[in-house]
Amino acid sequence: MSLTTLAPGATIGIIGGGQLGRMSAMAAARLGYHVHVLSAEPDPPAQDTAHRVTIGAYDDEAVLRAFAQSVSAITFEFENISASGLDLLASLCPVHPAGSILAISQDRILEKSFLGDHDIPVADWVSVPDRDALPEAVASLGFPFILKTTRFGYDGKGQFRIADQEAIDALAAHLPYPLIAEGFVDFERELSVMVARNEAGEIRCFSTTENQHRDGILDYSLAPARIPVALAEEAQRLAAHIATTIGLVGIMGVEMFVSARGALLVNEIAPRPHNSGHWTMDACLIDQFEMHIRAVAGLPLPDPFRHSDAAMKNLIGFEGVGLCDAVLAQPGLALHLYGKHETRAGRKMGHVNALFPLGALPGPYGIAARFDQALKPALEIAQEP
Ligand code: ATP
Ligand code: MG
Repeated sequence: MSLTTLAPGATIGIIGGGQLGRMSAMAAARLGYHVHVLSAEPDPPAQDTAHRVTIGAYDDEAVLRAFAQSVSAITFEFENISASGLDLLASLCPVHPAGSILAISQDRILEKSFLGDHDIPVADWVSVPDRDALPEAVASLGFPFILKTTRFGYDGKGQFRIADQEAIDALAAHLPYPLIAEGFVDFERELSVMVARNEAGEIRCFSTTENQHRDGILDYSLAPARIPVALAEEAQRLAAHIATTIGLVGIMGVEMFVSARGALLVNEIAPRPHNSGHWTMDACLIDQFEMHIRAVAGLPLPDPFRHSDAAMKNLIGFEGVGLCDAVLAQPGLALHLYGKHETRAGRKMGHVNALFPLGALPGPYGIAARFDQALKPALEIAQEP
């Protein structure tokens, strides 16, 4: 065990009160810990499961100070905390993962530079601090390419697909600089690996997961990914390598593309529990949230013991909420709702997991059958080639 093992009864602080905090708090409670959540929004989803909730701004020094003094270790489920806020917290209490890791993941240019510096393959990219840099991006990447805000992007927000010169001419004056331009990856598939690491350096990866997005938001995850074992293991090796080189303590999602030629390219890293790891809640003995809390608390990280194959579907916006009754009535589906008071288009309201015997994750039609008629219209998992 590592030096800073938390004893049962200790309080873990979680910054951010969204669904990731809500589910992390449940896992912490199962291990005998209390959770104190700091949320900038009133009535956060995590208030149903945390021992204590403080509503306060993430840049309010007095709030951060009091929060740090009330807990034995701090983690976060929300990535946009300022570096100065994290420094203040870290001066008062252990923060896992470290603020330096968050700083890298918060800025797409730092992130791509870090990955490139450590021989992790990424898509071609060019920094676009202002509109004068656009011609260089065109010359170096060619069309099409994607412009992304360097900071604060999530669920595909702040992204602009650029097909041709006309598209740039129309947008150039209005874009939210600074941006990063990324070569468009004609990917065959999207994957992710959830990797956890504790202070003692123990590392654990969950099964490589296949992800399908709709309108820029994760729609489905399938585990294990329907790819050759060697490629799935290569993805885990990449994730473990990133976790070690970045000095991770906690859990991290590593998002990747499989290029048309079958090569892995890392898209981004998220040093926290991740939507594409939600299938672990029902298909593993130790899910991503418990693995995260174990890592933060300095506990051992044993094999998660995946006992089933799984498909996860996000319940998004009004359409997602509309599926709940059908999910509840259908045997074999596990519903997870986030307790959000207001439904909004594009908002993640919950998710549903379906399990399959090991090695029996079916093709798209089999998965549709498990999710049943009611979910079929929303099920557009691409047919296997
Ligand atoms: P999330 O919060 O869902 O992770 P995000 O806003 O941080 O999203 P990305 O993960 O970079 O943004 O992009 C969202 C999705 O857009 C990707 O999962 C992928 O489907 C698509 N995408 C992003 N970058 C590229 C690229 N360079 N080439 C092709 N598709 C891309
Ligand atoms: Mg992403």
